[in-house]
Amino acid sequence: MSGIDALPPLREVIAAHGLSAKKALGQNFLLDLNLTAKIARAAGDLTGADVLEIGPGPGGLTRGLLAAGARRVLAVEKDARCLPALDQIAQAYPGRLQVVEGDALKIDAAALLTPPIKVVANLPYNVGTELLVRWLTPPAWPPFWTSLTLMFQREVAERIVARPGGKAYGRLAVLAQWRADAKIVMSLPASAFTPAPKVDSAVVHLTALPAPRHPADAAVLSRVVAAAFNQRRKMLRAALKGIAPDIEDRLRAAGIAPTERAEQVSLEAFCALAREVAKG
Ligand code: SAM
Repeated sequence: MSGIDALPPLREVIAAHGLSAKKALGQNFLLDLNLTAKIARAAGDLTGADVLEIGPGPGGLTRGLLAAGARRVLAVEKDARCLPALDQIAQAYPGRLQVVEGDALKIDAAALLTPPIKVVANLPYNVGTELLVRWLTPPAWPPFWTSLTLMFQREVAERIVARPGGKAYGRLAVLAQWRADAKIVMSLPASAFTPAPKVDSAVVHLTALPAPRHPADAAVLSRVVAAAFNQRRKMLRAALKGIAPDIEDRLRAAGIAPTERAEQVSLEAFCALAREVAKG
């Protein structure tokens, strides 16, 4: 018994299935089920929602999600060694846990779920940012998910919620805040994980807005923001030279001084610039 369910404690599960952590798979496990239950709570009310979990590993967070009442959990795991442990959880929650073995970057998991869909994951560090960018840049908005509750390295979490004026502010902040509300809801020391990583972590909760905060074409905004932050120390008139030959005029039309640097530009102003650039 573990406190949140009738399954064995995670240390026993790991020992029984020989789940020694593999660095290449970003395996830093959470073994405290009170903590995984807390992360599940940070995702809001899960009853009546399908949950997509990436990287369940030995299943600590999966158990938290199921104990919190998720209608269904679809868990995508690359490491086949974890499957027997996850199968035990599936048996304890009949019909509510489906495990897909494979690479989350290659599987269209959303197609297997029924809305409303919440994504909750203690992400493998090596693919976390790439997955987040994909979830934030679907071909159409609103996306398949209503919220994302994701564990990141603290530094990445700070980049997602950053406001203009600091080093953390960049493409990730603009992408995330343009069409979602993003906030850090939990901080975890490195010692919360087994094995402990080198850095602390934080959980970010993002809620999809029904429509973008300010009008702009997604592809144009993405191009402008990528160019602006690729050369973040340069003035925008230089960093954005390749975007349009008359970029100085367009910057002024958007209310941005051509001598400003990307770090100083608000989300609203980036959207205004994307609209000016889209005028052709
Ligand atoms: N959810 C577990 C927990 O909280 O203890 C494990 C989290 S661990 C940080 C990341 C998990 O993602 C590992 O189980 C790892 O095998 C899995 N993983 C790594 N790369 C993956 C990928 N591309 N697709 C799916 N799972 C992956």
